[in-house]
Amino acid sequence: MSEFSNNIVAALRTVLPKEKEFYPLHEPTFSGNEMKYVQDCVATAWVSSVGKYVDTFEEMLAAFTGTRRAIAVANGTAALHICLILAGVESGDEVLCPALTFVATANAIAYCGAVPHLVDSEMRTLGVDPAKLKEHLKAIAEIKNGECYNKITGRRIKSLIVMHTFGHPVDLDPILEICNEYKIKLIEDAAESIGSYYKGVHTGNHGLISSLSFNGNKTITTGGGGAIITNDEELGKLAKHITTTAKRPHKWEFYHDMIGYNYRMPNLNAALGCAQMETLPELLKKKKQVADNYKKAFAGIEGIAFYDEPPFGKSNFWLNLIMLSKENALERDNVLAATNDAGIMTRPAWLLMQKLPMYKDSPRMDLSVAEDIETRLINIPSSPNLAGKGY
Ligand SMILES: *Cc1c(COP(=O)(O)O)cnc(C)c1O
Repeated sequence: MSEFSNNIVAALRTVLPKEKEFYPLHEPTFSGNEMKYVQDCVATAWVSSVGKYVDTFEEMLAAFTGTRRAIAVANGTAALHICLILAGVESGDEVLCPALTFVATANAIAYCGAVPHLVDSEMRTLGVDPAKLKEHLKAIAEIKNGECYNKITGRRIKSLIVMHTFGHPVDLDPILEICNEYKIKLIEDAAESIGSYYKGVHTGNHGLISSLSFNGNKTITTGGGGAIITNDEELGKLAKHITTTAKRPHKWEFYHDMIGYNYRMPNLNAALGCAQMETLPELLKKKKQVADNYKKAFAGIEGIAFYDEPPFGKSNFWLNLIMLSKENALERDNVLAATNDAGIMTRPAWLLMQKLPMYKDSPRMDLSVAEDIETRLINIPSSPNLAGKGY
């Protein structure tokens, strides 16, 4: 074990509560009414795809995010799939998306028969770099009949998905400007950013339509689950319709007026979600405390920086991360080995999308910043229960 890795393990130990043997990256916290609401579902037999918890969960999500409509679905990937369909993405289109993201973002594009067009990140947010995107579009895009086309591939560029990486909001204002200029529909993959704000407004409000995830490792969980959020009332109604098999309400008739999806969130999962929503403000406070503790612990250590929220945003600090200096990039795997051996779960960034076989030929811009981030980023344990004394 190198001295550098030793220093990192030691710094992590100053933050992590002593009594644990293993520290996962993110584990759920069930400290409220979870058991009570789930038991209620079982007791009343309302466990499946309709029920009062689904309705309540959707209302709570809309209220918390400040959006007009929230639609609970089976998972975050399904939510993204529907966002893309409702943004008008069709087979043969291109959709701009970050190279540095979880594979679900690119997969949802592929489900539509569309092609992900990979975009670089900026160091300040880890997400889409507006200045670089603008330059890129200037070089490769043209507007024809009010729509954006890639001059090189001939494909229509229908949409841009931005992703708020590990909870840190991207710089949405200049991104929105670009979308307006190029007639591109903005979708926010807010899977990681419930409780994160851009200039005081919750993430997921700026795009046409956005997605959330409640997978087991996310800030709050429904076991598995996701949601679509939007400020467009009509689009919200359509999202509910298309995710619930597109069946027209009728006492007995099975009339489905379009190709719908069975992407419903079961009531059982929504029950867990309602209880999680009740404790979300408390969980976010604890997560901020964990981030503050790490920030102090890593302040004096040469060659490492704790990654803080961007100046214009408020992050939920879903997954905390440290960034090794460029000189120490080659130490990354030593650090990953040393920390995991010590029972402290750490992970590198995702492999960039173009490194996966199905996206190796995806159109892309220069991705040098994402490539740099990929070599130096390490995620560290971030569960709310690590907040320590006083919490
Ligand atoms: C978690 C996540 C999703 C959706 O994941 P599900 O497991 O399908 O809920 C999508 N995009 C990103 C960036 C994610 O982190």
